[in-house]
Amino acid sequence: MPKIEIKKSFRKSLTMRFDRNGTLQVKAPIFMTNKQIQGFIDRNKSWIEKQKIAKQNSQIDPEKIPEYKKEARELIPPRVEQIANKHGFSYNTIKITSAQTRWGSCTSKKNLNFTYRLVLAPQEVMDYVIVHELCHLRQMNHSKKFWNEVATIMPDYKNQELWLKKNGASIS
Ligand SMILES: [Zn+2]
Repeated sequence: MPKIEIKKSFRKSLTMRFDRNGTLQVKAPIFMTNKQIQGFIDRNKSWIEKQKIAKQNSQIDPEKIPEYKKEARELIPPRVEQIANKHGFSYNTIKITSAQTRWGSCTSKKNLNFTYRLVLAPQEVMDYVIVHELCHLRQMNHSKKFWNEVATIMPDYKNQELWLKKNGASIS
């Protein structure tokens, strides 16, 4: 959940919006109890998460997107190849996508997709997404076997998962 600031005032209904710092500003009627406000926030969790993602995505300077894409095409495929070679994975193609909420994916035809947004993530997060998708070449699921495979290559992958969660996008 994002940082939340609650302000009560003489108003009839509750509103929520993200400010430019990514804090959720909640304006609530003065008669509402904190428990009621919290209940409202809890019930709207998925809306809040979606808004947060939209907000983060809109923070990418549109003029810089072609630059990021170019960078992604230069950086990601060699890195995938390097990691794949080191751990004996073989894949078909690599595509750089503009996916907004998905960092990477892997198809049954062994094609790997990565969003250009990965160039904005820390290196170890980019590596994790690559490792994650490569492991799907062996396990097309999120079974225990899959996670063991990931952990063998990247023992601290949970830190990277956390970063991805905080930065609002999913990995599949
Ligand atoms: Zn996955």
